[in-house]
Amino acid sequence: MGDLLKGISNFRGAVFPNYQALYRKLAQEGQQPHALMISCADSRVLPETITQSGPGELFVCRNAGNIVPPFSTANGGVSSAIEYAVVALAVRDIIVCGHSDCGAMKGLCRPELLKSMPNVAAWLKHGYAAHSIVCQAYPADLSERQKVRAIAMENVIVQLDHLRTHPSVAARLATNDMTLHGWFFDIETGEVEVYDGSAARFTKIREDGPLPVAVTGRDRPQVLAAVAAE
Ligand SMILES: [Zn+2]
Repeated sequence: MGDLLKGISNFRGAVFPNYQALYRKLAQEGQQPHALMISCADSRVLPETITQSGPGELFVCRNAGNIVPPFSTANGGVSSAIEYAVVALAVRDIIVCGHSDCGAMKGLCRPELLKSMPNVAAWLKHGYAAHSIVCQAYPADLSERQKVRAIAMENVIVQLDHLRTHPSVAARLATNDMTLHGWFFDIETGEVEVYDGSAARFTKIREDGPLPVAVTGRDRPQVLAAVAAE
């Protein structure tokens, strides 16, 4: 805890003064973050550091395994963060970010590791589809490291599917006011791979090209036309 106290002291004395005007503006005018990022709670995965975002720029929701439970009437922290970001803050981009060497994905891979953690085991059921996909559709001779990496990537795609079940997200996608992104952060190399929904694969970011996206808004006019013609 001593290091944390020193950190607070350093922030107050050496960092905050340089950003005082920004913090004052944010306090007076409120936040208008560009995006919602749902990432793992892993201490090595820092959304603001990876994206070089400052105060007020990124609305962040972190949990074990960057999970998005499918929409249900039961209240939950992740569902509330999504609803607030989309409805109150009018965020137009949501990123689900997985990462390498993820303890939660290792737990999905080896359920015996979760025997003494019933809450974690129950939570990770929201990612079980990723485990099934890798076990049944990937080569059987993957090393454990490859398997955990594959589950982490498939888990990002599964959680993007869950995101679309949330009414606030579904409505914004239908009006073409929202884009969903799937990212994978490699802790060892610092590389961020992004999911390209049109090619159904993760790809490295090219700084000279457009950012591939996972899900964009649907084309609604045809549906509307069909309804209007009835
Ligand atoms: Zn993790």
